[in-house]
Amino acid sequence: MTITSNYDGKCKKCDKEWKVGQQIYWQKEPKCICIDSQCFESQKSGASSTTNANQTNFDPNQAKVTRTTQQREADLGAFIATAANASVKLTGADIAQVWCRQ
Ligand SMILES: [Zn+2]
Repeated sequence: MTITSNYDGKCKKCDKEWKVGQQIYWQKEPKCICIDSQCFESQKSGASSTTNANQTNFDPNQAKVTRTTQQREADLGAFIATAANASVKLTGADIAQVWCRQ
């Protein structure tokens, strides 16, 4: 959005200055401010690309092999229940094997 500046300012990124009463581009979260629309847009995309980077780096295939703690606990719980039904004595190694299984 654009706002009317109520103070003299200067862009931290491109060093362009603005005066009181000038229309400037402004965004609250993440904070982006500049009198230059292109600089403002690049600030916005720069700010959001930091957030998106994590999402872009998120690899669903990786997520499949790296199980969450909840999944491990669920697996381990099922394993222990099965072993208990079969009256199998579990060792720490058995449990570790299930817990660490990818
Ligand atoms: Zn700027």
